[in-house]
Amino acid sequence: MKIRQVLEALEQFAPLPLQESWDNAGLQLGLTEADVSGALLCLDVNEQIVDEAIRKGCNLIVSHHPLLFRGLKQISGADYVQRCVIKALKNDIVIISMHTNMDNAKNGVNWKIAERLGLQELSFLAPSPLERAGGEASGSGVIGSLPEPMAADDFILMVKRQFGVECALCNELLRRPIQKVALCGGAGDFMLDDALCQGADAFITGEMHYHQYFGYEQRIQICVIGHYQSEQFTTEIFRDIINKECPGVRTEIAETNTNPILYI
Ligand SMILES: [Zn+2]
Repeated sequence: MKIRQVLEALEQFAPLPLQESWDNAGLQLGLTEADVSGALLCLDVNEQIVDEAIRKGCNLIVSHHPLLFRGLKQISGADYVQRCVIKALKNDIVIISMHTNMDNAKNGVNWKIAERLGLQELSFLAPSPLERAGGEASGSGVIGSLPEPMAADDFILMVKRQFGVECALCNELLRRPIQKVALCGGAGDFMLDDALCQGADAFITGEMHYHQYFGYEQRIQICVIGHYQSEQFTTEIFRDIINKECPGVRTEIAETNTNPILYI
């Protein structure tokens, strides 16, 4: 099977028109007419990831965050992005990124987070106008319900466990039970007021600015779990799409942890 066919399957699931205007999702580099020898699935591309692809005989890397974001004016190896480009091209590795198109797609990044939390009756927190996706439902964030109400401290412990979070950043513990949960993976703080408007008891995201925590005490339980942690299971979405649509293509979820943030 050609790499192009894998690209088409991914774009079928998360069409590129769903991405935000500032984004650069899609094919990053490489020639897609080659046969795919294996696909390494990851959140970010760094040099360790390209090395892992080489080691595992994968000529395709599928990442969530784009490697190329600001554009390259020079390719000399001066920074890690340029070094990744050089190493990938030298080793005939193709890089594809499925970023905000996968955030905004039905069953995308946020649906995966909701699945991990066991939420039911899922819907988009802020649905997009339909024409953007050629009629397909899309939108930002997800809202759903826990099967049973939970006390705030139990809820936060459950979230930490499910996402392997060492330290969650929360506001004052909510003194009413939590059942309706809104979430947005990554830097999703812009959705906090949508969560409140939709009647969510709790809002989970990857990162949030200090000042945004103010004024929500006893209105909504904020739980910030880290950008990488919140989106880490996106690789399972890639795996499931490729296994279903591209039978016979070997998929490997990356062993390299690309989170640049350490909790010390
Ligand atoms: Zn992200």
